[in-house]
Amino acid sequence: AEWQERGASVGLRKEVDASGRTVVRQVRKGVRDFSFGRVLGEGSYSSVYLATDRVTRREYAIKVLDKRHIIREKKIKYVNIEKNTLNRLKDHPGIIRLCYTFQDETSLYYVLELCSGGELLGVLKRTGTFDVECTRFYGAEILDAIHYMHSRGVIHRDLKPENVLLDDGMHIKITDFGTAKLLKDPRDPSSQDANDQGTPDPASRDPDDNGRATSFVGTAEYVSPELLTNKSACKASDLWAFGCIIYQLLAGRPPFKGGSEYLTFQKIVNLEYEFPPGFPPAARDLVERLLVLDPARRLAIEHIKNHEFFDGQQFGPELWRSTAPRLR
Ligand code: ATP
Repeated sequence: AEWQERGASVGLRKEVDASGRTVVRQVRKGVRDFSFGRVLGEGSYSSVYLATDRVTRREYAIKVLDKRHIIREKKIKYVNIEKNTLNRLKDHPGIIRLCYTFQDETSLYYVLELCSGGELLGVLKRTGTFDVECTRFYGAEILDAIHYMHSRGVIHRDLKPENVLLDDGMHIKITDFGTAKLLKDPRDPSSQDANDQGTPDPASRDPDDNGRATSFVGTAEYVSPELLTNKSACKASDLWAFGCIIYQLLAGRPPFKGGSEYLTFQKIVNLEYEFPPGFPPAARDLVERLLVLDPARRLAIEHIKNHEFFDGQQFGPELWRSTAPRLR
C-alpha cells in the first residue's frame, strides 16, 4: 500500500546532545513528540486523541488510523484524499488545519488543530434551535469556508453539522474531507485533477459484497438530488447541503428526513419539505433559492452573501476576528 508521504512535517524536539546539554532541534515530528491524553472521538476508521506537544505544550487532536484496518476495508484512497485535500486548504481559519502527519509500522497519524467546542450538531442538540443571529453568524462562517475551498478547487461532498467543529472561541472549522473531490487547483497550474479518475461520489462509496453501490456510511439527509439522479456532484452540491444546514439550525431538524434512507432520498428528489410555522421569512427565501433541484439554478455564493438574510453580515477576516454570539 502506498501511504503518501508528501509535505514536510517539521517541528521542534528537545534532545540531549553528546555533552549532556538539552538542545532544541528541528526534526520531522513523530509519535514520541506528543503525549497522548483522552479519546476525543471515534470514527469508522480512526480514533481521535487529545495530545500535547512535549516541547511547546500546545494541544492538538491526533487522528490515529490503523493501517491494517484501512487496507482490509479498502479505504486507502479516502485516507490519501483527506490528507491531500487538507494540505491544499491550509490558509483559512474555517478549515481544520492539518499540522503534521507521520506514521509508524501500524498506524497513520494526522495531527490536527484542536476543536475543543465539539461538533456543531452537538451544540444544536443542546439548544434545540438557533435564533436568527446565531444562524446568520454560523451560516456566514460555513459559507466563507465553502467559498475558500471552492476557490481552491475542492468540493466537500459531505457537509453536515457533524462535520462542522467548533474551536475554543466557538468559531467553526470544517472537517472530514475523506470524500472530497479535488479539482484542478486554479491557483496551481501544475496540479492535476487529483481524484477525478474513478473516485466514486459518496453515494456509491461503499460497494457491498455483491459489488453493488450501497448506501452511505454517514447520514443521507444532506445529499443533493443530482448525486441521487446522476451520481455526480458539483460545487453547487455543497450549496444544497448549506441550504439544508441553514434550515436545520432554525428548525432544529433537517428538511428531508424519512423513515429510511430510501424514503429520505424520495423526499429529496421530489423536493418534499415544509417550513415549520414561524420560520423567518428572509431565511425561508434563502433556503428556497438553495434547495433547487437543478444545480445550475441554485443561488451562487456571491449572491448568497448578498441575500437579505445576510444583510449587514461581514465576511472575510473580520468575521473570523469577531466574537461569536452567545448561543440561543
Ligand atoms: P467517520 O470516519 O465514521 O465518518 P468521523 O469523520 O467523525 O467518522 P473522525 O474524523 O475520526 O471520524 O473523528 C472522530 C471524532 O473525533 C469526531 O466525532 C469528532 O467529534 C472528534 N474529532 C475529530 N477531529 C477533531 C478535532 N480536530 N478536535 C476535536 N475533536 C475532533
